[in-house]
Amino acid sequence: MTEAIALLREMVATPSVTCSAHHGLDETHGEGRMVQLVADFWNRSGMDYEIQTVYPGRENVVARIEGGDGPSLILEAHTDTVEVENMEIAPFDPVMKDGRVYGRGSCDDKASLAAMMIALRNAAEKGLPGTVTFAAAANEECGHAGVVTLLENGLHADGAVVGEPTLLQLVVAHKGACRLEITTHGVAAHSSEPHKGENAIYAMARIIQAVEAYAEQLNHRPRHPLVSGPTCSLGMIDGGQAPNVVPDRCEISVDRRMIPGECTEDAKEEILAAIRASVGDEVNWSSDLAFDDYTLETDPDCWVASTALRAVEAVTGDSTVIGAQYGTDASNFSHAGIPSVVLGPGSIAQAHTAVEYVDIDQVEKAVLIYERLCLQQ
Ligand SMILES: [Zn+2]
Repeated sequence: MTEAIALLREMVATPSVTCSAHHGLDETHGEGRMVQLVADFWNRSGMDYEIQTVYPGRENVVARIEGGDGPSLILEAHTDTVEVENMEIAPFDPVMKDGRVYGRGSCDDKASLAAMMIALRNAAEKGLPGTVTFAAAANEECGHAGVVTLLENGLHADGAVVGEPTLLQLVVAHKGACRLEITTHGVAAHSSEPHKGENAIYAMARIIQAVEAYAEQLNHRPRHPLVSGPTCSLGMIDGGQAPNVVPDRCEISVDRRMIPGECTEDAKEEILAAIRASVGDEVNWSSDLAFDDYTLETDPDCWVASTALRAVEAVTGDSTVIGAQYGTDASNFSHAGIPSVVLGPGSIAQAHTAVEYVDIDQVEKAVLIYERLCLQQ
């Protein structure tokens, strides 16, 4: 077994399920154990690192390794994973079978983390042409607080490579997200006399129709060549207390995915305008922006993209650049003025699934690619 696979298996055996409103730190939730593992690796390698608190018990680990005068690089991947409840395999048992490593996080995102760490250490021993900063970020799966903390602490470079499962293809563009919570406000009453109340669910039904019509319209918008078109999806609904009570409140969550060139403010305003146009002032409603994430669009000819592509081509022979539907930390770097791409081992098709795994061959190739990147070969 190679060092990268041994490190990856150690990571899979180290639970780091992301925390949410429903879960605080416990024996499986929180990145603290991974922080220790990553810090131990840099200790063993004799390299300095910094630990940044994102939330109590949930930290980023940042190792900056000085190089020559060449362009500087950030390698970033996240330490948290999604939940394990519905998994069909033991989530923290890093079984090796059929050329794969199984377990939660094996693909998303511990394969990228392990490959980046081994590659950077190997490259550093050979001499780095430019400074490389490795960042293991907390809290990617439930917001982007880890990368925000990295940027707030002044992290900057000439380019960033974010490790996420891309099957080792170079991602230069991805969608962004704008998530709205929309609430209708009614008046509660006994269901035997419904005319004495105002039914917030009936009101929401009208808003839902407006959202559905708006989502349909989006299908006719021009598509981005790498990420296709913008979308809108209604994902959650919550309302009413009991069958015999006229509901005074109903809430939905609308998830609008933006393509490069769109921004949260415009996307949000479009949805609100579509609702206003449809229901006028006949419905009492309000809205909240629950989450948003930037789009990514990086010039494939910029330094980090062309250097990354050269490294990929040398190792896999693949020279295509692609777009992704999902969001990553790369758009935060990009928004902060650091040209960024996404590149990592494993397939997004296995991320977040009941039987998560990564192909060992992908991880080994990722080590070679990241090493060439660090060496700017
Ligand atoms: Zn991920």
